[in-house]
Amino acid sequence: MANQDDQFKKVISHAKEYGYVFQSSEIYDGLSAVYDYGQNGVELKNNIRNYWWKAMVQMHENIVGIDAAIFMHPTTWKASGHVDAFNDPLIDNKDSKKRYRADVLIEDYVAKLDAKIEKEIKKASKRFGETFDEEQFVTTNPRVLGYKEKGTLALKRLAQALDNEELDKVKALIEELEIVCPVSGSKNWTDVKQFNLMFGTKLGASADSAMDLYLRPETAQGIFVNFLNVQKTGRMKIPFGIAQTGKAFRNEIVARQFIFRMREFEQMEMQFFIKPGTQKHWYEYWKKERLSWHNSLGLGESNFRFHDHEKLAHYADAACDIEFKFPFGFKELEGIHSRTDFDLSQHEKYTGKKLQYFDPEESKSYVPYVLETSIGLDRMFLAVFSNSLQEEELENGSRRVVLKLPAVLAPTKAAVLPLVKKDGLPEIAHKIVEDLKWEFNVQYDEKDAVGRRYRRQDAAGTPFCITIDHDTLADQTVTIRHRDSMKQQRVPISELKSLIKEQIDVKNWLMKMRS
Ligand code: ATP
Repeated sequence: MANQDDQFKKVISHAKEYGYVFQSSEIYDGLSAVYDYGQNGVELKNNIRNYWWKAMVQMHENIVGIDAAIFMHPTTWKASGHVDAFNDPLIDNKDSKKRYRADVLIEDYVAKLDAKIEKEIKKASKRFGETFDEEQFVTTNPRVLGYKEKGTLALKRLAQALDNEELDKVKALIEELEIVCPVSGSKNWTDVKQFNLMFGTKLGASADSAMDLYLRPETAQGIFVNFLNVQKTGRMKIPFGIAQTGKAFRNEIVARQFIFRMREFEQMEMQFFIKPGTQKHWYEYWKKERLSWHNSLGLGESNFRFHDHEKLAHYADAACDIEFKFPFGFKELEGIHSRTDFDLSQHEKYTGKKLQYFDPEESKSYVPYVLETSIGLDRMFLAVFSNSLQEEELENGSRRVVLKLPAVLAPTKAAVLPLVKKDGLPEIAHKIVEDLKWEFNVQYDEKDAVGRRYRRQDAAGTPFCITIDHDTLADQTVTIRHRDSMKQQRVPISELKSLIKEQIDVKNWLMKMRS
């Protein structure tokens, strides 16, 4: 079995080979942690965004969308706390000259302990066979308990040190845990320093009158500053939400792991404005709702888990991540944050304007509390893509690489393949393409033997192949081949459209959230 690194390398090279993701400015040797989406990538990305938008905006009568600008008045970022507190603690290894996020070094150390626990469980489960009680094992086995305690304690001390801005203690912890630089293998560390993640730029032509601006590090603030505009013009009643998708920029210290951590990325965020005191209820509600959304795509329930934040951001009174099992382990995919009235109150303070809601039921005005769901579109892309890429051994002993993307998200829904390039078969195929392309993306492919074409479409993630053969001439039926099962089915041409639409219909997929 391929190890994690190999598997991840396969994901990256497959994404390139099949036109999903390219390194930005590759012909100039690329730009670190910046990526471009290719012809298939853009379709998958659009489909994920659309799937999110439909679930969040279209399916909720009390949620509307906006599209705010990337540039915002610079005081926004003073008010939001980003100028003063949007920092990551960085540390350098003096021997390799490599730079790391100090908190990530410690988290990786804990992840290694978790992996050891997993190993113990696997070993024990093998040893005890059917009588194995995992729950009992993890709560009583001394070795497992030892690893667990060590990890929990390390994370707790990290959270405390960061909360109190005691960076010397973060360094001390790294030394105490004997964490070594993965490159040089040495423990020769510099002190830990804070580093602000916002990109600065300038607005205006002349040097003296130019205004310092930031590229937004999150989309959320565009929603907060428009809270009253939307509430008033949309006559929105609390509870209500505002959703937005768009680019965000962070000067990440260590940008690795492909599109998991980028310097330019896209977020899909929703701020839900609620009555103060109801945040616990809505926090639970949105945790459940968002997890159901993920599960509706069928990526495997055991690949998701919640992770409560030890260290709360400056704005939050409760926060958790939905983590996904990426090829390099469980990592944050989405954040769910109870942001209290922090942001609106801060904007009130800095603008001198009231950002309040008059509650007709209570006959009083208040600054609403906010529940936020925030997911990275690129991370979701990586989750879907890496989970879908599989290598299978077939009955005849041959292997196939198949990208089992959920059909609702697949870039091309069907490929239309004439068995041969003559006898009128291409003409029928073209006619089918002409008809189907009004409904969804289809591709015509006549090159190579049909088996090769199937493999090509499997690897590109196309869920259906439609093959036109000589029988089609006589009875107007075609073969439809299903990517995942490789089953073939004979159907009349007239039924193709409805058959495929049924399988790719957003409604049918989102309905799974309710089941
Ligand atoms: P991390 O701890 O991984 O840096 P974060 O907690 O800073 O993430 P948030 O500020 O909560 O992330 O942002 C919400 C979502 O935006 C994240 O769950 C993630 O999916 C996405 N995201 C954040 N930073 C990046 C990045 N550099 N590249 C790609 N996606 C990102």
